[in-house]
Amino acid sequence: MLMAEGEAVGRRKMTVRVSGVVQGVGFRPFTAALARRYSLSGYVQNGGGIVVIEAEGPRDALEGFLKELSYNPPRESKIERLEVSWESSSISPSGECPGFLILGSLPVQTGIAMPAPDIAVCLDCLREMNTLGNPRYHNPFISCTLCGPRFSIMERLPYDRENTAMSDFPLCSLCESQYQDPQDRRCHAQTVCCNDCGPRLFYRDQTGEISGQAALDAAISALKQGYIVAIKGIGGYHLACSPFDEAAVSRLRAVKGREGKPFAVMFPCLEEIVRRCRVSPEEKALLSSRERPIVLLEREKSDLCLNVTGSSLRIGAFLPYTPLQALILEQTGPLVMTSANVTSLPIIKDDDGMLRLFGESNGKIGGVLYHNRRILRRLDDSVAEIVDGKPRILRRARGYVPLPVELEASLPDGRVLAFGAQQKNTICLSKGKYFFVSTEIGDLDSEETLEFYRDTIKDMNDLLEIRPQTAACDLHPGYESTRMAKESGLPALQVQHHYAHIASVMAEESLTGKVIGVAFDGTGYGTDITVWGGEFLIAFPDGFERAGYLKPVFLFDSEESIRRGDMTAVCLLLQAGLIPPNDPSVPVLKAALENQIHTVVSSSMGRWFDGVSALLNICRYSDYEGRCAVELENAAAAYARQNALEPEPLPFTLAEENGIFMVDLFPALREIVKRQAAGDPPGLLALRFHKTVSRLVLEMCRLLRKAGGLHEVALSGGVFANRLLLDDVLAVLRKDGFRVYINRQVPPGDGGISLGQAYLCRHRENLPHKEA
Ligand code: ZN
Ligand code: FE
Repeated sequence: MLMAEGEAVGRRKMTVRVSGVVQGVGFRPFTAALARRYSLSGYVQNGGGIVVIEAEGPRDALEGFLKELSYNPPRESKIERLEVSWESSSISPSGECPGFLILGSLPVQTGIAMPAPDIAVCLDCLREMNTLGNPRYHNPFISCTLCGPRFSIMERLPYDRENTAMSDFPLCSLCESQYQDPQDRRCHAQTVCCNDCGPRLFYRDQTGEISGQAALDAAISALKQGYIVAIKGIGGYHLACSPFDEAAVSRLRAVKGREGKPFAVMFPCLEEIVRRCRVSPEEKALLSSRERPIVLLEREKSDLCLNVTGSSLRIGAFLPYTPLQALILEQTGPLVMTSANVTSLPIIKDDDGMLRLFGESNGKIGGVLYHNRRILRRLDDSVAEIVDGKPRILRRARGYVPLPVELEASLPDGRVLAFGAQQKNTICLSKGKYFFVSTEIGDLDSEETLEFYRDTIKDMNDLLEIRPQTAACDLHPGYESTRMAKESGLPALQVQHHYAHIASVMAEESLTGKVIGVAFDGTGYGTDITVWGGEFLIAFPDGFERAGYLKPVFLFDSEESIRRGDMTAVCLLLQAGLIPPNDPSVPVLKAALENQIHTVVSSSMGRWFDGVSALLNICRYSDYEGRCAVELENAAAAYARQNALEPEPLPFTLAEENGIFMVDLFPALREIVKRQAAGDPPGLLALRFHKTVSRLVLEMCRLLRKAGGLHEVALSGGVFANRLLLDDVLAVLRKDGFRVYINRQVPPGDGGISLGQAYLCRHRENLPHKEA
């Protein structure tokens, strides 16, 4: 493919166009050094989102150069396509070689643009930062061609300094010379700066504002004294405090309006994590990866305050990914690091917003450590864990975005914009085999989040220039995302929520045949206008069939009812013919159910987890999304850790009605009430409930396999964020001969919906549009 017709010897000229992740990863200096090694003349430059190389030299040297470039490109790059065109040389074989240059950027835009994600600080830079006498000694902004912020500071493509937030800082003579020096590891590093010319640190507290090293020292000392300090990061601000100081952590919860949700902790080094958690080699690799996500780890023994992680046996741990964080943690030790926002609002990225929150915090926030490099894109920390030796992402943001999910199989041509769901919204733009999923935007129910949503849609469209022809969205008429899709002016394909969940797995795995889709979540709009959420679908790219589901129940329908596990429990008990506890809400719920007012019909599995959690008095109210279910998992996991015996599942029934299989969990509920009265510990019953759910998944899949010969299962939906359940379901299904697929690159929850919507839409773009 690299060979072309024409002369095989003598001087030749070639033009190479390289697309993929080729900007912001040191591609041009790498190419120039390589070309010089082959004694080629010519130039390399950025063109829109791609790199263009023009090189002249002996034919065999050009080919050697090309081969090396394709097989051994710069570490952080990813070549998608390499197009080569040949001409005869304009220089005579004896002519002098003018050398190989790095030129400024061309404005043209061809090929697929793949802006680089933000990259965690590299070891070489950390080493320099800690070397006394280095011009970047203790520089909180040290970076090179292989590390540093990218996507978060990029105004537009091409990725050149003048198109980033670094354009505010003219290079000093030292940085300029390194930038130009082909031998230097900062040759053409757009983020290069030093103690003389880079961004500056500031620290503001009650007493005023200071800058430079004094600012850093003051922030560190405040943290050591137990204050909460806001620290400017890559995609926004963090609020930090000591995880060993219970009062500080409580104050942090007050500032965030976040009562119970576990906080992530940043540790200065891997050793500090290994001392407290069980860490596998794969988890170590993920913790230290250039994406540097928060990694959920098994806690072993912990000296951290109880109110950091609550009842969870796990902890979200991560390592510093900016030089500033490394400098701070070196002095302070581990820190709680949580995104600076008020619950459910987007992370704060602008200095004004942070300083305002500081002012309004009545001294609860001790100070703000910030700097004058602008953050252009909001990005939360990503969250991931290792399942089966491989990562699965639970929140896809910094480090991963904007890299696309890439299909193995090819698809009909088309360009799609998927608008996502309502909760934990993401959007997805797709072209060719690429699916660009946005950062997690949040729940579309505040004006701030909606603004972030609209900005993200515009930003992704501008940056990727995909120009969608079709929109995809949820079936729910009340979702803001549905409304936005319909107002977009594009023909819109409405996709059933749980079908989209399963399709997100199909997209990740490039599945095109029929699979058994198990979609468990809290809520989703069904094709029959009832609430779905305990679904067994026979799904394929052109359609799906609701082959089975959890027997629907009536649930109280109010603004609050999603959070009220206790109300769900009462509804379930009443419908099981059991006596509910003596509670003031009972008469209201009884009347509602009897008259079927303020009720919804729901097959949601998530709500059963909530109800059982409340029934067992484990958690009665979700002060954050899904808390009742999370606490049920924690109680079950704690019991399983202390008791080696595998408890039996609870009873349930499976019946067929008109070819549809229905699971009834009321027998399990009755058994729980009976065993509870007999004094069984809540943890045991919580664990038995988990076993019941995995057993019912197994039994249902067996029936569907028998009926349709299918043995491939895709699991998705927010309920599968439950690790205990996921591990058990994977184990029982595999043991029975099923091939099981799960989400890995996008979350199983509603953050993955946009990918599923886009995938289905791409499959039928050339078909007449109808509901899916
Ligand atoms: Zn570096
Ligand atoms: Fe969902």
